[in-house]
Amino acid sequence: MSDDQVDVLVVGGGITGAAVLHEAARRGARALLVERGDYASGTSAWSSKLIHGGARYLSAGQWRLTLESVREREALLRERPALVAPQPFVLPIRHGDWAHAFAARVAMLVCDVMAGHMRSRRVGAAEARQLEPLLADLASGSAISYRDGVVDDARLVLTLLREAREQGARTCNYTDATLTESDGRVTGATLVDHATGTSRTVRATVTVHAAGAWAGAAPGAPALRPLRGSHLVFAARDLPLRSGLVWLHPRDRRPVFAHVWLGAVIVGTTDVEHADVNAPAVMSLAERDYLMEALHAAFPSRGLTPERAIASFAGLRAIVVPPGARDAPPSRMARDMALWQRPGFVGTTGGKLTTHRVTARAVLREVSALGVSLADAPAAPPAPVTDRFTAVLGDAGASWVRAQPPGERVPLLDTPYTMAELAWSLHHEQVMHLDDLLLRRTRLGLLAPHGGAALLDALERPCGDALGWDASRFRAEAERYRAHWRRMHDPLACGGGR
Ligand SMILES: Cc1cc2nc3c(=O)[nH]c(=O)nc-3n(C[C@H](O)[C@H](O)[C@H](O)COP(=O)(O)OP(=O)(O)OC[C@H]3O[C@@H](n4cnc5c(N)ncnc54)[C@H](O)[C@@H]3O)c2cc1C
Repeated sequence: MSDDQVDVLVVGGGITGAAVLHEAARRGARALLVERGDYASGTSAWSSKLIHGGARYLSAGQWRLTLESVREREALLRERPALVAPQPFVLPIRHGDWAHAFAARVAMLVCDVMAGHMRSRRVGAAEARQLEPLLADLASGSAISYRDGVVDDARLVLTLLREAREQGARTCNYTDATLTESDGRVTGATLVDHATGTSRTVRATVTVHAAGAWAGAAPGAPALRPLRGSHLVFAARDLPLRSGLVWLHPRDRRPVFAHVWLGAVIVGTTDVEHADVNAPAVMSLAERDYLMEALHAAFPSRGLTPERAIASFAGLRAIVVPPGARDAPPSRMARDMALWQRPGFVGTTGGKLTTHRVTARAVLREVSALGVSLADAPAAPPAPVTDRFTAVLGDAGASWVRAQPPGERVPLLDTPYTMAELAWSLHHEQVMHLDDLLLRRTRLGLLAPHGGAALLDALERPCGDALGWDASRFRAEAERYRAHWRRMHDPLACGGGR
């Protein structure tokens, strides 16, 4: 086979595409993934970062999705301990709110039964405050304690891609795919490389379209309704949570949450219409007010203001619209994965971060039915990697980072990242722009004030060494990054620019 002939061509480099590529590579297929922006730049870097049991899907009657979510959460906690960490949660129940208490307790019990162990508990007010001292502000009567998982979502995508490459797959970012067809059969795609402007055609036995909220352009795609969810990020010193917290928003009683992530605290989320899927997903002023109202109700004594937030981020949910449900309230829309086929083609959208492997396996069944011969999946998962560097950068990356001088291994700007890791990413992780490095290879842009602007000068030399940028290219890239951060992640600008 030539380089331009593959068994499986995957369009879309979010969690779904990455999981499909990973599964295809591990089962011996010759596979290529293309992503028109940076890997995970669609929705998969902007989720709430929870590997969760999906208790809330139960109220929509989505038992199968809850079961899959619970099982996958447990498997990912076991098999990827350096990427997916346990996250204890406390769900406070107000005095006398029996309906909420009953519904939440039943949902947690169902999830426990599905997981095969009883982890959730009803706890009294005193124990709840011990588990989470900030609960004092929530004036709760009692609480339910339970456990979910938390993940660096972009890193999970990048890890799957790296592991797939180690098994022979190829991946290209900043490469746009337009499907090619012949006699009613999808034959592959024409790929345009944004960096060089060159195009080429790749022929594929099966093309998998995993374009998330942008799947509507694919042949046979279901009707999609993009809904935006936004988040605020606070420094742990401003909201020093010990557990994650879920509480009901005072305005509409939707569940909202705050949880610890990479040393900071994420608060979310909203669920609002996003009319134009091609418009950037940015938190609006109304969404910021909504999240601040939830925070003031829960933590009135903390004096939280938007000025204290470090960053904001928003993502687009790809909600598949069943006939007749176009006008249903956003939070009532079912959140299920869609899968469809055409000759030479499999399309999928709506898959969750938590259930990415379930989606990938379902896609690969269709790929096999369309004529790609796949080896059986290995019966046992690989041994869990517990070392963070090895888990995220691979063996070579971990050894290289450890061999760097101590000065290169000092945590930067109160975050878990070091200059050694940044240098490795610049050399080996297909970084094209500074936002790739600061918002997805690392999450410095969400964790450090002003998107990590204080670090930019120190990046000029490593960018020159790894990417060949001269001083004027670096200045242009730094300005591009600052403008991008202000537009997409500045919690004071809400898309409007300060
Ligand atoms: C606010 C919010 C919070 C969420 N929280 C959670 C959570 O806590 N836990 C959880 O399990 N799930 C969560 N989800 C769901 C989860 O994040 C998404 O379902 C998942 O990230 C979707 O992944 P994807 O790969 O299907 O889509 P995406 O990540 O959007 O990837 C699709 C990619 O396709 C690319 N693409 C499109 N067209 C082309 C083309 N022509 N050529 C090349 N590339 C193309 C896009 O650029 C994009 O990067 C959340 C979702 C949202 C919106």
